[in-house]
Amino acid sequence: MTAHIERVYAKQQEARATRPAPTVAERRAKLQRLHDAVLAARTEIQAALWADFRKPPAEVDLSEIYPVVGEARHAVRHLKKWAKAKRVSTPIGLFGSRSRIIYEPKGVVLIIAPWNFPINLTFGPLVSALAAGNRVILKPSELTPHSATCMRRIIESLFDEDEVALIEGDAAVSEELLARRFDHIFFTGSPAVGRIVMRAAAEHLTPVTLELGGKSPVIVDRTADLDEAARKIAWGKFFNSGQICIAPDYLLVDEAIRAPFMEKLRAAIVNESGVIVNDRHAARVKRLFDDAVSRGAKVASGGTFDGRAIAPTLLTDVDLDSAVMQEEIFGPLLPIVPYATLDEALRIIAEREKPLVLYLFSRSRRVIKDVLARTTAGGTAINDTLIHFYQSNLPFGGVGESGMGKAHGRFGFEAFSNARGVLEQPTKWSGTQLMYPPYTRWKQKLIDWTVRWF
Ligand code: NAD
Repeated sequence: MTAHIERVYAKQQEARATRPAPTVAERRAKLQRLHDAVLAARTEIQAALWADFRKPPAEVDLSEIYPVVGEARHAVRHLKKWAKAKRVSTPIGLFGSRSRIIYEPKGVVLIIAPWNFPINLTFGPLVSALAAGNRVILKPSELTPHSATCMRRIIESLFDEDEVALIEGDAAVSEELLARRFDHIFFTGSPAVGRIVMRAAAEHLTPVTLELGGKSPVIVDRTADLDEAARKIAWGKFFNSGQICIAPDYLLVDEAIRAPFMEKLRAAIVNESGVIVNDRHAARVKRLFDDAVSRGAKVASGGTFDGRAIAPTLLTDVDLDSAVMQEEIFGPLLPIVPYATLDEALRIIAEREKPLVLYLFSRSRRVIKDVLARTTAGGTAINDTLIHFYQSNLPFGGVGESGMGKAHGRFGFEAFSNARGVLEQPTKWSGTQLMYPPYTRWKQKLIDWTVRWF
């Protein structure tokens, strides 16, 4: 493996150093080819995800294929505007000069992806990296080997190794890659591995985007439409068996509407037992469940475990100190915590790490304003779940423990670009030269003026 990595890495570095950055037209052509190839491989991708973790084809379409082709189409449509040099105005003290910002590719970038949306979270960032004109090494997760092989075949059919290469392998391969100098690293995965990635990047002062996970709360306030909230929360929580970074992790419900809402939520669960990706993760979810129950939690729905198959489960009377209220769940368990006042709900959120998403179901403008003003989160969806991921005009990413840097659309393009400031002085003699030494009395006056007024 080492020799293979070394060869690919050296080729990309060589190409970066000797060839000019691809033009906008060339980048758009690459994106279009990727778009077409993903569409053409639709059934192959569906089969790979079925083999990896029994993901139903319709869900593959919605959560793997569509996000990638949608992101590619968006980039093709807008790239010219994003990549265009932007003129900026000139402050009076620099009178005569002209300035602009140009966006250049960072160079050779590394994208490390998790298993839970293997195609989406590998090819999605690839779209942004190519839009920005980079050369790319992709390292998908070893837990979804069929998807990884399928993606490698697509990449090999479209790109030279010195443009884009996909390297399959586990944490050891990841570490081998991370030992090298990249111009940007885009990592999606757990906060624990995020720390390892950032430590490795620090060795080379490589900038990172970290798309991590965490506990995303969902608040249901007394003014919410309860049928709608129940339906959308049940969908958002149990899609992919809760193995989604943006899944509602735990639910805070207004005490006044708790009983009717619980009824509706129970009725809204249409999913059957879903499959957890491997035994280790299934055992982890079971441990969270057992710990909660041993501390007094009651099972309001589900609660059956059959190897890797776990039923959608609602837990009430949950101790706030139990593991299920401390760690990211990443499985089909939903702890439900009633609150008497909004203050109490916001305190429970503030006691935890900054979330990737904060969901709110409310029809009160005042409550919506209040919650936005008094909390922080990577993103927020109001009266819906998950779908903000598909809005390419919004930045997507975390804050604090849930990550750093933003992805999608122009934000993804900027993450993979160096915004280079260029000042041009058209005249030989510019006003600023009046400030050069020797500092005579009148020059000192001019300096005083500048410091005070300009
Ligand atoms: P993970 O962190 O275990 O693995 C992610 C990637 O890192 C894999 O490619 C893996 O091979 C690699 N890796 C693992 N250990 C490594 C090490 N020691 N050194 C270097 N590389 C290593 O994550 P996962 O289990 O695949 O995914 C689940 C996590 O990802 C959850 O925490 C979830 O919230 C998060 N996630 C976040 C987003 C987001 O967009 N913010 C999306 C999906 C998943």
